[in-house]
Parts: sequence; C-alpha cells; structure tokens
Amino acid sequence: MQHACEQNQQNRDGVQLLAVSKTRPAEQLRAAFACGQYRFGENYLQEALDKQLQLQDLAIEWHFIGPIQSNKTRALAEHFDWVESVDRLKIARRLSEQRPPNLPPLQICLQVNLDNEANKAGVSLDELSALAAAITPLPNLQLRGLMAIPAKREGFEDQKASFLRLKQALNELRQQLPQTPLDTLSMGMSADLEAAIAAGSTQVRIGTDLFGPRDQKMST
Ligand SMILES: *Cc1c(COP(=O)(O)O)cnc(C)c1O
Repeated sequence: MQHACEQNQQNRDGVQLLAVSKTRPAEQLRAAFACGQYRFGENYLQEALDKQLQLQDLAIEWHFIGPIQSNKTRALAEHFDWVESVDRLKIARRLSEQRPPNLPPLQICLQVNLDNEANKAGVSLDELSALAAAITPLPNLQLRGLMAIPAKREGFEDQKASFLRLKQALNELRQQLPQTPLDTLSMGMSADLEAAIAAGSTQVRIGTDLFGPRDQKMST
C-alpha cells in the first residue's frame, strides 16, 4: 500500500486497510489485531458471529462484505459496524428498521456491479442514483460510499480504468447528494490493489496477501 501510494501520488493516510478474514480462525484475527489491525471484513454471517463471540474482548470494527439475504438483515444490523454490500432498497429498509436504537447508525456502502456480471451482487450503474436517493432518508443508516469487485482484468491500466468508473460514479453521487458524507471508495483486493489505489481507493480489502491462500474448506 505504501509503495502504491508513492508510485501514484496518493496520500497514504487516505487509504485504509480492511483485513478480509473469511475462512480464517479467530486466532489469526487476534494476531493481526495485536499488530494494530482493527478493521476486519467478513462474508459469511454465521462464521462471523462465531468469531465475534470469541473476540469480544477486542475493539474490532466489523465490516460485512458478502451477499445479503433478507432473512439475515437483523443479525447484520445488530452485530456489524459497516455493511458494504447493500445493493437493493428492501435490504436497506430492513437494516434501518432493525438497527438497535442504542447503536450508532449502521455505516453502509452500496455495492456496484460495474460490469453487469450475472453471477455478482451489486446495483448496476444505471440504477445507482435512484437507489442512493431512496436510501439516504432512512434514519438508522449512514450512506458512506461505494464498493465494487470489477470483472478480472490482467493489466494495470485496464484494472485502473474500471476502478476509475467507480470513482466517477461516486463523484456524481456527491453532486447529487451534497449533504451526504460520501467519503468511501472501497475497491482493490490482493490482485489489483495497486491499480485501485492509483484510481483513488480509500479502502482496499485484502485477504490472501495478509493471511495466505484460502483453503476451500473451513477446517484449517
Ligand atoms: C474475499 C474478498 C476479498 C479479498 O480477496 P483477496 O483476493 O483474498 O485479497 C475482498 N473483497 C471481497 C468482497 C471478498 O469477498
């Protein structure tokens, strides 16, 4: 991250590291926390809840970044600080209604399906503006920005070009919703974090490059 910021004239303080800890046992999160990492991203609700129980003594900021089914919204609203994968109004309404009143508003990002891939979650760029306008009045949510997983591209310039489309979409939302603090552009993973930072990412979501390759099974 430091290197990518230097190479691309970006301010290192402007880019956060979200440690993506899906499939990793709680001890690995505890070890990362001991190194100063406190933002963790999880994709699977039950797995995350199990780890949260084991790590109750740590002041972790929990981000949910996986696909959302509507029967899971209550647990997300109760147990997470951020949900970065909101992609439809029904889910947003439920998260707002189910957010416990003693907690601060749930911080959310809208997940954008930049390449309209059938197998990926996310709102299309065409529908983004209407969705954001419908969500901002919901009382217990705070819309913070956009998240995307672009289609896989090999070269730095091609990767950067897709990330710039998300950046452009955020800029347009800022004009549309000047009262909303849209400060978050969550983009870049292990394979493309340099291009994401070059395009203005404010949060890279890194799993493999922090914890090693993921086992398909949960056993290790
Ligand atoms: C798994 C995952 C990541 C991390 O991917 P790596 O390639 O392991 O860095 C980031 N974002 C989302 C949404 C993910 O599901």
